[in-house]
Amino acid sequence: MAEQLYTIPINEAFEAYDGCPMCRLRRKLEKQSLEYIMGAAMMEPDIRIVTNRMGFCRQHFHTMLGMGNRLSLALMLESHLQYLWENTPEPDGRKPGKLGKIRKYDGESPGGEMKARAESCYVCARVRDFEKKYISNVVYIYKKDPAFPEKLRKQPYFCLEHAGALLEAAKNELSEERYLTLSRDLLTKTRDHLSQLKQNVTAFCRSFDHENAGKPLSPEARYAVESAVAFLSGDYESK
Ligand SMILES: [Zn+2]
Ligand SMILES: [Zn+2]
Repeated sequence: MAEQLYTIPINEAFEAYDGCPMCRLRRKLEKQSLEYIMGAAMMEPDIRIVTNRMGFCRQHFHTMLGMGNRLSLALMLESHLQYLWENTPEPDGRKPGKLGKIRKYDGESPGGEMKARAESCYVCARVRDFEKKYISNVVYIYKKDPAFPEKLRKQPYFCLEHAGALLEAAKNELSEERYLTLSRDLLTKTRDHLSQLKQNVTAFCRSFDHENAGKPLSPEARYAVESAVAFLSGDYESK
């Protein structure tokens, strides 16, 4: 059954009980996508057509630079740069057509298309596509596996983005009663975590007050700023 395809990775992520399980899945997907594109897929003509068109975002280009396989990256860049060159208009405004053939100026600004090309990323798009399937699968497992709701309840927290995405998907899939249970669990978890982060940031701020000079800070308060930024920017990496 298509819905059960991702049961194993989802259960693995939900059995770690360390940070947002959906962020854990996303990091895994991101790593797999980068290894995939820098490995065998790099020479696949079908994949190359897509990477030529989409390119990569700043973050993923930098990760690929650090992966060491310079020839893979160079070959991808060679045809990506060729594609960009063929699709960037002539300075007199004439627009390139298919296979680099120059067409007449059509009065349109190329700005929007150039920006879109700069912003698109093969890895981000691949991760997003898989993540959508994971989210609907989590809701499916929640519905079908009687042990799963308790597993979900035991997570330390969900980040805002993933709590929101799960609620959105669950609204269409679950009965009203089950949706309300899930939403109560997720909202309680989110509010508790926000409150904890806020308390730690407050303790960090107060440690700068005169009367607290020299008093030791708890580890949670010492890393309060890093933890809050990591949570809010979806970049949580557990220690
Ligand atoms: Zn998350
Ligand atoms: Zn990216």
